[in-house]
Amino acid sequence: MFRYNADNSQQAIRDRVAAFAKKYIEPVSRDLDHRDDPDRFAMDMYKTLGKEGFIGMKMPKEYGGSGVSSLEYTTLVEELCYYDPAVCLLDAVAELATYPIYTFGTDEQKKKYVPKCASGELIPAFVLTEPDAGSDAVNQKTTAVLNGDHYVVNGEKIFIMHGDVADILVLFLKIEDGDGNEKASRKISALLVEARKDGKLIPGIKVSTLKKKMGMRAATTGRLWFDNLKVPKENLLGEVGKGFKIAMNTLDGARVGVAAQGLGVAERALQESVDYAKKRICFGQPIGKFQAIQWMIADMATQIEAARGLAYRASQMQDKGEKFSLEAAKAKLYCSEVAKFCVDKAMQIHAGYGYIGEFSIIEKLYRDQRIMEIYEGTSEVQRLVIAGSYLR
Ligand SMILES: Cc1cc2nc3c(=O)[nH]c(=O)nc-3n(C[C@H](O)[C@H](O)[C@H](O)COP(=O)(O)OP(=O)(O)OC[C@H]3O[C@@H](n4cnc5c(N)ncnc54)[C@H](O)[C@@H]3O)c2cc1C
Repeated sequence: MFRYNADNSQQAIRDRVAAFAKKYIEPVSRDLDHRDDPDRFAMDMYKTLGKEGFIGMKMPKEYGGSGVSSLEYTTLVEELCYYDPAVCLLDAVAELATYPIYTFGTDEQKKKYVPKCASGELIPAFVLTEPDAGSDAVNQKTTAVLNGDHYVVNGEKIFIMHGDVADILVLFLKIEDGDGNEKASRKISALLVEARKDGKLIPGIKVSTLKKKMGMRAATTGRLWFDNLKVPKENLLGEVGKGFKIAMNTLDGARVGVAAQGLGVAERALQESVDYAKKRICFGQPIGKFQAIQWMIADMATQIEAARGLAYRASQMQDKGEKFSLEAAKAKLYCSEVAKFCVDKAMQIHAGYGYIGEFSIIEKLYRDQRIMEIYEGTSEVQRLVIAGSYLR
């Protein structure tokens, strides 16, 4: 109701997602949110997203995707998040981890992995963060040493979406070459790691599922350890020392995706609030008649419009091949914070019926939203990027 199209191509995607959500998401959304450990990863939903063509949509058709534009993909994420942010995240992680393989991989690597990732057959993960390298991503301690025809990898990663179930890892680390001269960021490299054979983890990798996650529970988050893991030399992604560029280039697009996540959540919070304000009676009239409630609705609606403008603009710049890092940072920062504002106001409008999850979706949106200000670079990091581009 509160979404509009900046481009004709968007409505078809909205309609497709609405039909998908009715059939596949709405019947299980609550169940996926409350599943207990250890097997919380929503494998059936992941496979269904793949089968219905929602995974890897930005990949070209010859690589198993749909070749949609960035604006179309933004619309997909916005709509999926409107129905269930955690289900959307299943898809968003696949996109995040497949993009660098497609963009920086050799023809052979692309042919081998991208179609299978785009169909949902292989689960990929983007493996950058370490216990001491979150915002300070350059501070990678995981290392690889070349030994004949393979690298030997040692180290530890944390907070990796789907890291506990992934088949293929886009693994960032430092390749030790012994020269000690290059700047730290230049020495980060990326390897493609086939983490499983016949469904079982290969020797040298251990994983665990992180427990008690606040929201986004259909999609799991893992911790990984590498102990003398052998990775074939030809699995280097891009060139030695170019890993930081691969990671940052990937994150530019992913930040627009998080902006779209925030937008979808904010729109759902507004819709639920409007519906509720019309029907909840206090002091003999609908609460929507009270100015206090009207102002919250007005502020939500206005901020959503501004957020939508930023998210669509960053997507359209990406589609035109323009540099869009700054716009992606602004969109991610603003949309995720607008989502927080809107779920908070929606909670206030629903009051007790918002706080208790069995009565409305607001409690779930409140939990699912919070990570959007943290992953793909915290709000503080986005502000650093934005200020840095004005002050340099
Ligand atoms: C559910 C979840 C999913 C995730 N998925 C992935 C994934 O798939 N792959 C992956 O690689 N990572 C993933 N992450 C990691 C995520 O990107 C990091 O958590 C995030 O970048 C922040 O790092 P940190 O948690 O170590 O916080 P820190 O970097 O330790 O930051 C702590 C606080 O200090 C602030 N801060 C740090 N540096 C500065 C500075 N220079 N100026 C101002 N403030 C600063 C931060 O903004 C924050 O408020 C995920 C995290 C979570 C929780």
